[in-house]
Amino acid sequence: MDKFEMLMQKMREMPPEEQMKMTESNRAACTCPGCPTYTSCAKNADERLFCNTGKSFMCISEEKTCLCPTCPVHEKMGLKYQFYCIRGSEKAQRYESTLWGTKII
Ligand code: SF4
Ligand code: SF4
Repeated sequence: MDKFEMLMQKMREMPPEEQMKMTESNRAACTCPGCPTYTSCAKNADERLFCNTGKSFMCISEEKTCLCPTCPVHEKMGLKYQFYCIRGSEKAQRYESTLWGTKII
């Protein structure tokens, strides 16, 4: 089990208030708003923390640069992937990788 899987298991055992606190803290640290791929549409919709919530809801469609690998949440949560706003959450990308046997890192 890697860091991300252990943290997910730990979070499942936390009371909902603690889960929410951790998510809010990650949301506050998310560096998406400073990313070249981030759009004004995403800003107006207050979208971010795509690693957790998954793809942007019709606001981001073009991959430029991704700041995820340098974001503190990436290291803290043991994430492996990037471009979550277009490619889907960490869980989704891990699942796809399991299905197709590919690694998009
Ligand atoms: S890893 Fe990416 S999507 Fe997740 S909080 Fe950081 S910048 Fe946002
Ligand atoms: S998920 Fe990555 S590419 Fe998308 S806005 Fe956040 S930092 Fe940029």
